[in-house]
Amino acid sequence: MPEGDTIFRAAVTLHRVLAGKQVTRFESVYPALTRVADDHPVVGRTIESVSARGKHLLIAFSGDLHLRTHMRMNGSWHIYPAGARWHRPAREMRVLIATHDAVAVAFNVPVAELLTTRALARHAQLRALGPDLLSDANGHRGPRAETFDPPEALRRLRARGRDAIGDALLNQRVVAGIGNVFKSEILFLAGIDPFTPVASLGDATLSHVVQIAREQLAANVMSASQTLSPAVGRRTTRSLDPGEKLWVYGRGGRRCRRCGTNIRAKKTGPDARLTYWCPACQPPESSR
Ligand SMILES: [Zn+2]
Repeated sequence: MPEGDTIFRAAVTLHRVLAGKQVTRFESVYPALTRVADDHPVVGRTIESVSARGKHLLIAFSGDLHLRTHMRMNGSWHIYPAGARWHRPAREMRVLIATHDAVAVAFNVPVAELLTTRALARHAQLRALGPDLLSDANGHRGPRAETFDPPEALRRLRARGRDAIGDALLNQRVVAGIGNVFKSEILFLAGIDPFTPVASLGDATLSHVVQIAREQLAANVMSASQTLSPAVGRRTTRSLDPGEKLWVYGRGGRRCRRCGTNIRAKKTGPDARLTYWCPACQPPESSR
């Protein structure tokens, strides 16, 4: 069964190949899906983003249309150059999206539906995800349409008391929207060691972290899907120098922009994702 990290990688790959491209062909073996596509043609739309939300893979098209798929037990998304031979039999194809130079094929994916942004926002399974940090930020409409709920974010953080704050922030069922880059940047701005257990941080501190997260995401005007993109263009330092966009992310072994101490980097979690922090600006709780 594909785990969340598998879906995440699929979304990253699909996004890289498909984002910004126009759909030239759309097919599905599901009558309900093709019926919607008859009324709201997918062909001709631009693929805006591909993102993972929990184990859901969402493909956003221009003109207020989204494809939601869920892999369940045996589903998978493949991407091929146009004309390339598929690695799975055609009879296992459930959904196909082609662009000028690539074909994305969903094999044995049992759940697939086309939705408007509004329907997506109301989706029960997607709503199980944590409060979206971009909800109502700067007019941006997050996948959850309601206003951001700080007490709910705090409650969900508290429920992960034994987790390191860095891990809890990445957990999309706690709060949705933070990727690895922002995890490191937000905790630097908050002055918190990423490995501090949530339980040892006070409510005011956690609320402050959430507030910083919302500000940073909003300032970078990025959707949850764009957290899958590389750090290009992101800025947390307010410096206008393009070489000084980020405080710590990707800067292991280099000097902290604030205090000059060497930035540290450590691989953590099942994906061995790198966490970056300044040991002086973000001291461990025990030494505060
Ligand atoms: Zn520092």
